[in-house]
Amino acid sequence: MNVLVAGGAGYIGSATVEKLVDAGHNVVVVDNLSRGHAAAVSKSARFEVGDISDRAFMDGVLSSAKFDVVMHFCAFSLVGESVTDPMKYYENNVSGGMALVKAMLAHGVKRLIFSSTAAIFGEPAVVPIPETAPKQPTNPYGRSKAAFEQFLQDCDTAYGLKSICLRYFNAAGATKKVGECHNPETHLIPIVLETALGRRKEVQIFGRSYLTQDGTGIRDYIHVSDLAQAHILAAEYLVDSNEGDQFNLGNGHGYSVLEVLEAAEAVTGKKIARKFAPRRAGDPAILVASSDKIREKLEWEPEYPELEDIIQSAWDWMQKNPDGYNKPPAKAKSRKK
Ligand code: UDP
Repeated sequence: MNVLVAGGAGYIGSATVEKLVDAGHNVVVVDNLSRGHAAAVSKSARFEVGDISDRAFMDGVLSSAKFDVVMHFCAFSLVGESVTDPMKYYENNVSGGMALVKAMLAHGVKRLIFSSTAAIFGEPAVVPIPETAPKQPTNPYGRSKAAFEQFLQDCDTAYGLKSICLRYFNAAGATKKVGECHNPETHLIPIVLETALGRRKEVQIFGRSYLTQDGTGIRDYIHVSDLAQAHILAAEYLVDSNEGDQFNLGNGHGYSVLEVLEAAEAVTGKKIARKFAPRRAGDPAILVASSDKIREKLEWEPEYPELEDIIQSAWDWMQKNPDGYNKPPAKAKSRKK
């Protein structure tokens, strides 16, 4: 397949690019490097630095090859930040995506894989969460993604744009080449491991009175490589069938914050200091996916379902890359293959 990966320098995008090129697909990456890292992009992909909202830039990219499918990873994804700055979230996650779709349609590209999120569901009435659960997001991040999913359905009806929305639960872990590196880091597993590495004093546990077995928040952690594989299966399905769909994507097992700490202590062999802190705004108590639909329809199967294996891969990567990616301070250049 000829695949355009928008946001391919980010954590999940770069892991997907790595898997795509390993599987022999032709890949062009566009990324504005606002959150991503040039060093994370596989050398086997063509990399163009620019913004999906920049129509002249996107016209150039979309004219450069005949793309079978576009994967859209460009988004801000921090729940807390979305509560304090919703403008930024709607602008990037909704307007940015609309600009991408507009450019795609102008170039006759009508297949899109969209990075959606468990956050579109809010506090679930049924756990594990099926695709049919009501969408009641509890924060602007989730609402921006739910709005874009709705937009994609309207684009199918009006323009025949076929899309597959993959609703990620908690992406975690690392491949041999790419890992999680945000600045600032807000995600639990890297924070826990940075503490094990001695780079942080302690882990703050956000909330101890959720209605869960130990009072801390429960999430469904899924290995980034398994997420990447789901994108390839979804793209192949979309190209073959030309049928849009939505899939929840997690392991189907929930782990509390305290269980993550326990698993990380087992993996690292280190005691990890922690203290309880107030709940983080917008955080639901439990998010666990039902992955039955994607297992059945796309025959997706996680290769790394165990939490300890996921944490081990992140720990291996962090020990090898304690400073993450050495991001060049100023302008990174586009790179031809
Ligand atoms: N969390 C925590 N301390 C941290 C970061 C996260 O207790 O420093 C909790 C958070 O409240 C949630 C879970 O860990 O219950 C996963 O949070 P993360 O930010 O990794 O992902 P999210 O679920 O927000 O996408």
